[in-house]
Amino acid sequence: MNDEDVRPDQGVPGIDPSVPPSGTGCVECLATDGWWFHLRRCAGCGHIGCCDTSPSQHASHHAATTGHPVVRTFEPDEDWFYDYAADAYLEGPELVPPQHHPHDQPVPGPTGRVPSDWEEHLH
Ligand SMILES: [Zn+2]
Ligand SMILES: [Zn+2]
Repeated sequence: MNDEDVRPDQGVPGIDPSVPPSGTGCVECLATDGWWFHLRRCAGCGHIGCCDTSPSQHASHHAATTGHPVVRTFEPDEDWFYDYAADAYLEGPELVPPQHHPHDQPVPGPTGRVPSDWEEHLH
C-alpha cells in the first residue's frame, strides 16, 4: 500500500499542509543565541528558519541541506510561498496553523538578542 504518490487534493511537491511549524522562532538561531529579521516556514517539514536578509540565512541553509525546496512566509499578513530550487514564488495550499509568528514577537527578534546595530548585519 503506497498512496504517497497519489494526493489528488493537494498535489504541490515539497508541501505537506498537515505539518505544524516547529515553533515561533528560527530553530538554529534559538539554539545558538542568534537573531533574525524575518521568518520562513519549511512547507515540507515545518522547520522555522530565518530569511536571506537575516545574518545566518537558516531557511535557505535548511532547504539546501535537506532538499526541502518550498518555504512559506511566517510573517503576519503575508501568505506567499517560495521555491528555492526553482527560484520562484508559487501558489500553495492552506497550511495547518499557526500561519505566522505571534503578533507580539518583535521584528527583528527574538527579544533581548538583537544588537543595537542590527541593520549593519543584514544581507
Ligand atoms: Zn536563523
Ligand atoms: Zn524542511
